[in-house]
Amino acid sequence: MNVIADHRATAAAIELDGRHVAHNYAPLPVVAASATGAWITDVEGNRYLDFLAAYSAVNFGHRHPLIIAAAHAQLDRLTLVSRAFHSDRLGPFCAALAQLCDKDMVLPMNSGAEAVESAIKVARKWGTDVKGVPPGRAEIVVAHNNFHGRTTTIVSFSDDPAARDGFGPFTPGFRAVPFGDADAVADAIGENTVAVLVEPIQGEAGIIVPPDDFLPRVRQLCTQNNVLLIADEIQSGLARTGQTFACAHWDVVPDVYLLGKALGGGVLPLSAVVADSDVLGVLHPGEHGSTFGGNPLAAAVGSTVVSMLRTGEYQSRSTELGARLHARLPEIPGVTAVRGKGLWAGVDIDPALGTGKQVSRRLAERGVLVKDTHGHTLRLAPPLVVTADEIDWALDRFADALASTS
Ligand SMILES: *Cc1c(COP(=O)(O)O)cnc(C)c1O
Repeated sequence: MNVIADHRATAAAIELDGRHVAHNYAPLPVVAASATGAWITDVEGNRYLDFLAAYSAVNFGHRHPLIIAAAHAQLDRLTLVSRAFHSDRLGPFCAALAQLCDKDMVLPMNSGAEAVESAIKVARKWGTDVKGVPPGRAEIVVAHNNFHGRTTTIVSFSDDPAARDGFGPFTPGFRAVPFGDADAVADAIGENTVAVLVEPIQGEAGIIVPPDDFLPRVRQLCTQNNVLLIADEIQSGLARTGQTFACAHWDVVPDVYLLGKALGGGVLPLSAVVADSDVLGVLHPGEHGSTFGGNPLAAAVGSTVVSMLRTGEYQSRSTELGARLHARLPEIPGVTAVRGKGLWAGVDIDPALGTGKQVSRRLAERGVLVKDTHGHTLRLAPPLVVTADEIDWALDRFADALASTS
């Protein structure tokens, strides 16, 4: 292989991106060309173990054969009709997903942010039509350090300056309380509160697991005050933590599940708001919509994802392999704290060893792809098809990257 020419391929791709791709990300200098299972190959032919899984959108591995087969079959039949007509794919998908969630209705959308936006609209409409909150007065309680997406309304209740600065004016109607503080949720709930919107485990914030009494108490507060509990399971859900939904770790059932990322099988964007019809039934024709939401191609992929989750195989893998990951991580010199559940870990590193970004670069040079979150925290979230040996191999590389300064 001509190494110099191949380095040029990487450099040329990065240079082209720099000129023509908006600079809203700062990617590591790896140019992916193909991927299978837990492994990505770059334009130079180097292989990397993927320990990010596209922020959990690739929970089932890259190009899982069942998902790819379903997508191919559907590509040859029907891909898009809009919701102006029925398709023979949408109903079966929504029925299966509703059953997985033990709810009765699904609102299909595309990106995660759209699912969150849709849930905000549904909660406000429910508040006005069902709870009797005066129009325009509905309030939603959210958590500090939340991440729910990037639209103007969603960044309105973010407290990350990078997400907000310069993007105002902002949407009113949100009250933020410390994550994990049920007393603060109780204080924030007033007569116009329609929902509490929360990630059961905060992802972007650094894989923050709340105290064990938090979600059960919030569930109780919501029930007592006629407030909807909306669980944003877009990153935490669909087997990532060892359960189909992270809420299940605390036996909590929210009124509304928000799903995305892995729901699209790593193939296409597919998100959903899942709830019972006494909640989602507040939407009538013309009041909400999406041209691509619930398209037959996405529905075929989503149905396959739901059937894969039904087997429990991925949940078990995450539990078992996650135990291995979490047992070893705290013993690696330079690791100062580890949080998470299943195959999902937020790892704080000794600042003396470099920033999260610097360590991510060193790890990429050693063949493992991860992403830093804030400052000195790395997020580990391999595809759930990763093997025990691959985890051990990645952790050896991680220890080596922390032990060295280059
Ligand atoms: C990624 C994410 C979103 C937004 O999803 P997009 O598809 O990027 O719009 C929302 N909530 C949580 C918890 C997420 O991790």
